[in-house]
Amino acid sequence: MKVLITGGSGFLGSHLVDAFLKRGDEVTIIDTGSDLKIRHALSHPKLHYVKDSIFNLVLLESLILKADLIYHMAAVVGVEHYVEDPYKVLNVNVNGTQRVLELAFKYNKKVVFTSTSEVYGRNPKIPFKEDDDRVLGSTRIDRWCYSTSKACGEHFCFAYHKMGLPVVVVRYFNVYGPRLDKLDVGRVITIFLGQILRGEPITVIGDGSQTRCFTYISDAIKATMNAGLKKEAVGKIVNIGNDKEYTILELAETMKKVCKVKNKIVFVNQEKIYGKSYEDVPRRVPNITLQKKILGVTPKVKLEEGLRETIAWFKNLPK
Ligand code: UDP
Repeated sequence: MKVLITGGSGFLGSHLVDAFLKRGDEVTIIDTGSDLKIRHALSHPKLHYVKDSIFNLVLLESLILKADLIYHMAAVVGVEHYVEDPYKVLNVNVNGTQRVLELAFKYNKKVVFTSTSEVYGRNPKIPFKEDDDRVLGSTRIDRWCYSTSKACGEHFCFAYHKMGLPVVVVRYFNVYGPRLDKLDVGRVITIFLGQILRGEPITVIGDGSQTRCFTYISDAIKATMNAGLKKEAVGKIVNIGNDKEYTILELAETMKKVCKVKNKIVFVNQEKIYGKSYEDVPRRVPNITLQKKILGVTPKVKLEEGLRETIAWFKNLPK
């Protein structure tokens, strides 16, 4: 099978590339970013790497034409982007997604759209089921532009699905593992790890009682592959996650335990880190019934075990 992965040199994309290559498929990546996360695979005879933008429509069309299955993962992700450059987030995540879908529709190619648990916003009804409401704040709070952009992408998916395009929407819940972002930027695990490795205080935002469910990359990738391969997934939204809930304070303590360090934990005001255009999500837990039922995946990797792998990977990076 020929698989096209937009954003294939990102964290999730690069692992999905590895998984499809391992299965014997031919994989094409289109990505504007650095090739750092896929460098190990660049000489693979079945990998084609195109460093370009999905807004290069002539190129995108030629790639979509050749593909049997498309994963649309190219997106602007990361809280620092939501609050610094909401224009870029909206343009890539909404307009870029539309470009991919319209060309996929032209050639009737199945699309898996990778969305996010951010879509649920701060809905207090826990756990989040795929058809649950989205509860977001004001459009003056830039944080919500990511959630909104991905929800627009989902709406486009279902609009095209209505016209006959096979689509699948998956929503990730805080996936982590080797190759996640960079130390100090991106998501909470890489931020805490940077602080731990330098012996600095760990900055827990608020009182640390906010929760997340952390999903190890290998579990997320199994589910993502099956989202593209299983017929039953077409037309569906499926949460991809682990439903074990941790407070952010527990995450900090667990990371200290895994690293065997005694860093101080400091509680910081969210405004100090992200400014006024940030608002936290107090609890985020997936209902994973559909992931189990449709994608056949029950998450296996426990937080301590996943953190151990992730931390080992970051420690082995060349300085
Ligand atoms: N967080 C924190 N300290 C930091 C960065 C993040 O306590 O230095 C918290 C943040 O407030 C949120 C959680 O960690 O409650 C997860 O944040 P992340 O940016 O990883 O992604 P999110 O799940 O909010 O999209």
